[in-house]
Amino acid sequence: MNTSETRRTTGQHRHGGRPGLLAGARSVLAVVAHPDDESFGLGAVLSYLTATGTPCAVLCFTRGEASTLRGAGETSAADLAAVRSAEFAAAARVLGLSGAELLSYPDAGLGRVPLDELAGLARQAAGQVGATHLLAFDADGVTGHPDHARATEAALAAAADLGFPVLGWTLPQRVVRQLNAEFGTAFTGHADPSMALRLAVDRQPQRLAIACHHSQSAANPVLWRRLELLGDAEYLRILRPGALCVLFEILCPTGGLPHPRRP
Ligand SMILES: [Zn+2]
Repeated sequence: MNTSETRRTTGQHRHGGRPGLLAGARSVLAVVAHPDDESFGLGAVLSYLTATGTPCAVLCFTRGEASTLRGAGETSAADLAAVRSAEFAAAARVLGLSGAELLSYPDAGLGRVPLDELAGLARQAAGQVGATHLLAFDADGVTGHPDHARATEAALAAAADLGFPVLGWTLPQRVVRQLNAEFGTAFTGHADPSMALRLAVDRQPQRLAIACHHSQSAANPVLWRRLELLGDAEYLRILRPGALCVLFEILCPTGGLPHPRRP
């Protein structure tokens, strides 16, 4: 099903006497690699979903102990893992998540963990929260970190077993080009026309969640510049199709905020 077909289907439901478009929606599980991915990357999308009545939970595979960003008091990996675990829990509360599970796989080492093991945990978490849709970073990892791509691989493997759709958070090429030129980063993205969805988001809840991750956001100019370049828009791709009618009902509860784009 292509985007234009999906839009027609959504319209049929909207005009077909189903005002409670979220009535049939279940919940969304985000599968990420590091504590802060749920806020820095997915925060605006998650807060959008929770604000429109769709329960969201997060499964995070690592405690982020390998980050090069650490305060003076976080001298060891164990210290940083403890700090980041607390930051993750605080951000989950700010985002209004219905669940936030943090595992202890090695940061920067997810590629060494068997995919079946990670996918099994994602399947289990999806079952626990009654998820019908998974959310993840785009398959290329977006920032260039291999853990991000691995977490998405796990989400896709779990979704294949469950028959669920997977939404992938991504960036438009214009933002990628600007960030990589300014900071020498390795962001990846897609041309706007290839995006399945463009969401008009409220950044405020995300900014509050980001503030919870003080150890990673206090000295992170790339993050703030990315948000500035994105403005009030976030972009999603459909990494794995599923029940797209239901998917668009979750993301287009009123038909007012999101702006699906034609391919
Ligand atoms: Zn990350």
